[in-house]
Amino acid sequence: MNEKRVLVDRLNRKINYLRISITDRCNLRCIYCLPPEGERKLKRKEILRYEELLRIVRIGIKLGINKIRLTGGEPLVRKGVQEFIPMLTALKGLHDVSLTTNGVYLKDNLEMLKAAGIKRINVSLDSLKRSNFKSITRSDYFNEVREGIEKARDMGFYPIKINIVTMKGINDNEVLDFGRLAIEEPYYIRFIECMPISLESSSLAFISNSEIEKALIDTFGPLIPVVRGQNDGPAKRYRLDGGKGEIGFISAISDSFCQDCNRLRLTANGMILPCLLSNIEVDIKDPLRRGCLDEELIEVFLKAVDLKPKCHAMNLDSHQRVYRKMCSIGG
Ligand code: SAM
Repeated sequence: MNEKRVLVDRLNRKINYLRISITDRCNLRCIYCLPPEGERKLKRKEILRYEELLRIVRIGIKLGINKIRLTGGEPLVRKGVQEFIPMLTALKGLHDVSLTTNGVYLKDNLEMLKAAGIKRINVSLDSLKRSNFKSITRSDYFNEVREGIEKARDMGFYPIKINIVTMKGINDNEVLDFGRLAIEEPYYIRFIECMPISLESSSLAFISNSEIEKALIDTFGPLIPVVRGQNDGPAKRYRLDGGKGEIGFISAISDSFCQDCNRLRLTANGMILPCLLSNIEVDIKDPLRRGCLDEELIEVFLKAVDLKPKCHAMNLDSHQRVYRKMCSIGG
């Protein structure tokens, strides 16, 4: 077949971005994500092997995927990731490969990431205080994460985005400290509204990004909009006067941004999800392990895109449940 296939959905949204959760395992137990005891872990054979991931990405590239983000679980805990990442970035046709990590093992992997050509890193850091970090993540890796971020900055990674899931009564009192960080350092601070996606997050008090925006403006003055780039994600981006970094708001709950969604997600156990906050999934592992031809995998991608909902149905009034846990989707 010579006809050029591309991933364009029913609403004419062009899909060029695949987020891959390479493992469901995580070394943290963040209160909005996992219960203290963790979740049932996938068995090794249930998880896509690296060569399977590479085949899926090659098919994606043929269909116009040019941007990949590796996530988890925690991507840096998966054995062999140090060999996998350079193989992934070596694939022709990818313009942008990035990583979302909790930062615990970042410091020791930065040389490898740099050599593999990765420039952009997102680090989840929900508190700038060791004691609060400890209560949120249920672990004591604050110093490791800060050291990882600082070393990444010194090595020239850019942008380094710092993701904060804001929770009322838990870390909302640190919003101004994060604002200050965006002034003093070249980091892109991203405030993410907590999504009621698991039992854990549903029990936390919600705080909207508009409240955070107001607190920042009251203290630091106007937020200066940053012109959106073509490949920008859902964040609304701003600078603070004189700041070296940026502030961004990802407001999945209070302000839907689905009209610009350009992404698919691949879970560690081989499901393609057309939307983060819906229960639709299309199995790509089954055909892959049956030894199918590339054409069948192309059909799986096309089907996932065809099933992409107009927008997610999760807002504060909705009682929709997403059955997958964030640690298996990867955010
Ligand atoms: N382990 C990596 C990390 O910590 O960044 C990658 C996986 S983690 C599931 C990816 C992102 O999902 C993180 O930025 C995390 O803060 C976000 N996340 C998890 N649960 C969330 C929730 N209930 N609401 C909003 N964001 C959430």
